[in-house]
Amino acid sequence: MASNKLKGVWVKQIALIAGSFLLGLVLTYYFGFIAGLSLNIIVLVGLVFYIRRSQQKALRNLGFSDEKAGGSFAPTESKISLKYVCMSCGSRVKGAKCATCGSQAKRATF
Ligand SMILES: [Zn+2]
Repeated sequence: MASNKLKGVWVKQIALIAGSFLLGLVLTYYFGFIAGLSLNIIVLVGLVFYIRRSQQKALRNLGFSDEKAGGSFAPTESKISLKYVCMSCGSRVKGAKCATCGSQAKRATF
């Protein structure tokens, strides 16, 4: 089953996090707080990169596309912006009032 593969990734991930936590404790014990902590952070950053890669691979194996695996759900922003046209002279209005005749009466156009 495909879900077993993903579950395996999770188990591996939890084991890695637990392992790195223990490693951090050991490093902190032997090298002192600052050195141990910074070493642990380096290890964790490396782990996160490794996990990301293996997770993406697993998701791709499940049939997800790269974008979905990457978690980029940014909506495709519509490029439609409202434009305004002066109601007095009919020219394009960019600011609060018409640059041509100074009228503040304007209507939205697409
Ligand atoms: Zn105008």
